Amino acid sequence: MNASILNELRNIVGKDYVMSEKEDMIIYASDATMFDHWPDAVVQPASRDEVVGIVKVAAKNNIPLTGRGAGTCLSGGAIPLKGGIVVDMARMDRIRKIDAANKIAIVEPGVITFELASQAAKLGLLYPPDPSSWKESTLGGNVAECAGGPKGVKYGITRNFVLGLEVVLPDGSVIETGNAVDGEMCGPDWTASKKDNTGYLREFGRCCEYSK
Ligand SMILES: Cc1cc2nc3c(=O)[nH]c(=O)nc-3n(C[C@H](O)[C@H](O)[C@H](O)COP(=O)(O)OP(=O)(O)OC[C@H]3O[C@@H](n4cnc5c(N)ncnc54)[C@H](O)[C@@H]3O)c2cc1C
Repeated sequence: MNASILNELRNIVGKDYVMSEKEDMIIYASDATMFDHWPDAVVQPASRDEVVGIVKVAAKNNIPLTGRGAGTCLSGGAIPLKGGIVVDMARMDRIRKIDAANKIAIVEPGVITFELASQAAKLGLLYPPDPSSWKESTLGGNVAECAGGPKGVKYGITRNFVLGLEVVLPDGSVIETGNAVDGEMCGPDWTASKKDNTGYLREFGRCCEYSK
């Protein structure tokens, strides 16, 4: 990657959070699959605005982008198959708020799944999605993979617990989906609909009963 693009990225996230040397990027070339491919650079944003800046640089220069949580996925999704920039969410790891009364959490994408479940449990709440990688995996990665786990059969999987998303689009614009209300929503439901998914789970439950 040419020096001027690397400098643009350093101006956005700080010089300590841009990697382009092979020895620094080795873990970003693979995930939990057997495949690997090297990125040209790895950046570690700390905020939504920094992600927007990175996406705009990539769009302007026609550079592929690959998001990355903990790199535990089994789909190859975190591998930068066409090179380009890996956006590592490790620094966006804050639980902004757990609203116990309304049973809603606002989190950044790099929060470790187990950390949210643990903090929720301290308030007497259950965050069920528990992929077996949950002590390492991130909520952003769980959303992208729609991760489930042992509790999924009873409680549902990640999509059943996502009420809304803040999404940076490929041109750097930002949209918000869903809202912080657990129930009927107004307008298009770009986030997976809880109602539909509860329906799906009911179907699944009935299938199980019929097969007895
Ligand atoms: C030992 C082990 C056990 C597992 N057990 C289960 C299981 O029981 N159930 C199950 O469903 N899965 C399981 N998985 C796979 C599971 O999907 C992943 O572990 C987890 O969801 C991925 O999270 P991650 O943070 O590691 O994401 P990564 O692997 O880093 O990324 C996964 C995908 O998400 C994208 N992504 C990550 N963060 C963002 C972001 N902020 N914005 C946009 N895209 C993003 C990446 O580009 C990639 O496509 C397991 C994996 C392992 C290694």
